[in-house]
Amino acid sequence: MNKHLAGTVAIVTGASSGIGRSTALELAAHGASVAVVARRQDHLDALVGEIQNTGGTALAIAADITDRAQATSAVERTVADLGRLDILINNAGLMLLGTVSEQDIQDWDRMIAINQTGLLSMTRAALPHLQAAATREPRRVADIVNISSIAGRVAWPTFGVYNMTKFGVNGFTEALRQEVTKSHVRVGLLEPGAVETELVSHNTDDVKKALAASDDIAEWLQPQDIAESIAYMVTRPRRSSIAELWAMPTAQA
Ligand code: NDP
Repeated sequence: MNKHLAGTVAIVTGASSGIGRSTALELAAHGASVAVVARRQDHLDALVGEIQNTGGTALAIAADITDRAQATSAVERTVADLGRLDILINNAGLMLLGTVSEQDIQDWDRMIAINQTGLLSMTRAALPHLQAAATREPRRVADIVNISSIAGRVAWPTFGVYNMTKFGVNGFTEALRQEVTKSHVRVGLLEPGAVETELVSHNTDDVKKALAASDDIAEWLQPQDIAESIAYMVTRPRRSSIAELWAMPTAQA
């Protein structure tokens, strides 16, 4: 594979499974050194081993990024250990479904804490380092990619608070893009449709049954499909910024 990202350092949040795990492997295959962040240390250690076995460089950082101090220290540790920061993939997230009148209110807090507060804390801590990297060789451009969702574009019953978090990510991403783009920090939004990961598994059995009954998508996307889209976004030439990318399974209407 072409090592377009050689010499760069990336952070991928939510790298212990699903889209984040595939993205870390993909960015490492393009030559980036990758800090992988999530709560499950054993999963991160296995991923780091996999990247190192293919000759790559990776660093496991076990952190709960809903805690602002842990998010900040994940960024600081990346820069201390790997030397710089060029790419932040804000991917960690949670989708808990239920009606507004019946869903456990703690589910709302948990989604807001990771899908929004975690993303904000990582972004705030990373920005000075990204701006520094954007003015430095070898790349002279830096990237933030925020993983939103089709649920950031379209609303459905039982998705209300998840919808709210992802619609919010969309607005925040575009505002930030306009704030920092002139300093050569590209900010991109990626909105996947259905991807086969652990995302649905955190729901109640009733929700899972209802989702399975209404599932008419013959073939879901695989995490690798989204990882390749992210790699496309962060390997564009300096002059080219993919501000938004909506990636759907062909079989999803
Ligand atoms: P997974 O459940 O497989 O991955 C979620 C990741 O987030 C895990 O690595 C998890 O790690 C991490 N995470 C959750 N909470 C925290 C926390 N407090 N601190 C740090 N890390 C955390 O799901 P996906 O790969 O599908 O989800 C990735 C992103 O893609 C999410 O933002 C999701 O909303 C979005 N998305 C997914 C779609 C899909 O169909 N799968 C469609 C559209 C968007 P750990 O538990 O180890 O902390």
